[in-house]
Amino acid sequence: MHMGIIVAVDVGGTQLRAASYAKGQVKPVAQKRVETLANQPGAFERLIKVIEDVFPKDRKVDAIGVASPGPLDPYTGYLLAPPNIQQWHNFALTPQLSKHFGVPAFLDNDANLACLAEWKFGAGKGHRDVLYLTVSTGVGGGVIIDDRLLQGYHGMAAELGHTTVQADGPLCGCGQRGHLESFSSGTGIEHFVANQLRAGRESVLHPDKNNSARDISEAAKRGDALSIEAYAIAGKYLGIGVANFLHAFDPSVVIFGGGVSQSGPLLFEPFDISLKERVIHPRYLEGLVVTRAELGDDAGLLGARALAEVKLQK
Ligand SMILES: [Zn+2]
Repeated sequence: MHMGIIVAVDVGGTQLRAASYAKGQVKPVAQKRVETLANQPGAFERLIKVIEDVFPKDRKVDAIGVASPGPLDPYTGYLLAPPNIQQWHNFALTPQLSKHFGVPAFLDNDANLACLAEWKFGAGKGHRDVLYLTVSTGVGGGVIIDDRLLQGYHGMAAELGHTTVQADGPLCGCGQRGHLESFSSGTGIEHFVANQLRAGRESVLHPDKNNSARDISEAAKRGDALSIEAYAIAGKYLGIGVANFLHAFDPSVVIFGGGVSQSGPLLFEPFDISLKERVIHPRYLEGLVVTRAELGDDAGLLGARALAEVKLQK
């Protein structure tokens, strides 16, 4: 069967990226990025422009795939309330793109599509059941079951960062308490340290400074007890969360993306201990691969591409 070009789009709060891909080729034919300028009008026009810049003139485009921050509805292509892009609340993103470019357009959230990309092109290749977690300012998740992306009835499945791991725990970015994200994200680590410093805890970190998760990991590597504890707590709750996810999905690979997941043993030693303590049967861990994401910044684009390819095959 003839396959033309897939145009992939990654919508972010700071950057809009687009790339066009030919079937079977990993490298894009063309790619472009611009600033989102989310607070200035005309974000959709900027998006159209960046897509036009990679849209081939002489070859057929089969579909457009779009990765965007959620919440969104992958079945209708509406963005519901993307953080940082106020002008796109209840916005018919892919219906409008489809109308403008005259080709089908498909949408899903960036974490789900990073999962899809890692399964198709990266660390999850060859696995049928994949759990993906991105640990950065927040915690996002994606799940592949039986070689299919889990989307759910409303298209809102796999919000794994908002799993409750401690009732009445710290405040989460979503406004609720005790979610995995409130302990294990960079923001969670920063909040823990700031609270402890404010309470007078000894540390090489200064209470009046905005200490980033990276500052804290560097202090931890220099032996700062408070910073080590912050990562130990993040790792412990990450283990609790992943134990829950193993019980729910029983994957053969757990893939970690995001900046915080690059902190190494600081996070993953307590994670391992916690995970082993909490699985209800050691069989969940037999043959389980725990690994780092391979696709970095391109995961959104490659996931958007994979989404379009999967949808076209249906
Ligand atoms: Zn939450």
